[in-house]
Amino acid sequence: MLSLTVLGSAASVPTLDRSLPSYAVGYEGKIFLLDCGEGTQRQLLKFSLSYSKISAIFISHLHLDHFLGLFGLFQTIRLTGLQSKIVVFGPKGLKKFFELFNVDKELVEVVELEKQKNPIFCYKSLEIFYYPISNHGVLSYAFLIKEKDKICFYEKKAKKLGLKGYLFNQIQKKGSLIINKKKVYLKDVSYIKKGKSILYLGDGLSDSALAKKLKDAKEVDLLIHDCTFDNNLIDLAKERFHSTPALAANFAKKLKAKTLLLTHISARYSKDPSILLTQAKKSFKNSILASDGLKIELK
Ligand SMILES: [Zn+2]
Repeated sequence: MLSLTVLGSAASVPTLDRSLPSYAVGYEGKIFLLDCGEGTQRQLLKFSLSYSKISAIFISHLHLDHFLGLFGLFQTIRLTGLQSKIVVFGPKGLKKFFELFNVDKELVEVVELEKQKNPIFCYKSLEIFYYPISNHGVLSYAFLIKEKDKICFYEKKAKKLGLKGYLFNQIQKKGSLIINKKKVYLKDVSYIKKGKSILYLGDGLSDSALAKKLKDAKEVDLLIHDCTFDNNLIDLAKERFHSTPALAANFAKKLKAKTLLLTHISARYSKDPSILLTQAKKSFKNSILASDGLKIELK
């Protein structure tokens, strides 16, 4: 099952309750991090997620609040041991920070994203895709985490028509089989169970042009969207390349997302962030406000 745990829901300034940006995607015993702000390793501890399960890390852009946690995390991993290399994907320029902090090459493989083919990462039925986007004033990447669609059988019906053992495999490959002199079609004994998906945009102002560009993420189950400022501060949001609840909600509508997770919350809302959720819900009902430790299971 695909899940998401919010490790850090703050914007660039942390608060007592919100740590710097990072999200842990859980799938079949592994963890994939989306961004790795300062303090991510402590958040992993706090929410009982083990370093040893991290298999890949995806950095959206090279603003310090989104990647500075990598180096402390790798230092801890070096001290505590590692099962296998972690792959870190991110924009051009990321490698030189690993050299500067002298991160042990045995622990990490850094991939600077340029013209790699999608998907850039696969694990079991999970695929991770990247998209260059330019809505934040610096080179940024959106990441789409997608579980492959699965063929499921109507067991009673399939068995009645004589399907058993290896024939389940055969019919998936061929589309139809002759069983007991009768032709059995795959479509008559099975259905497609759609895989779950998560889209992470990093920071930025979103608009309909961006939604068009990210058409692969149409009907995404969970959209993680910047919501730094409330609607009244739209000018400030534009000036700093960040989003508001209205922009996030419109984007979610354009993508026909199922759930919108509002995050990257400015420290100015540390006492009461409810205005952000209220404003988003006006045009997108299924909105959730992120908090550190929040876990969403995509069933
Ligand atoms: Zn940023």
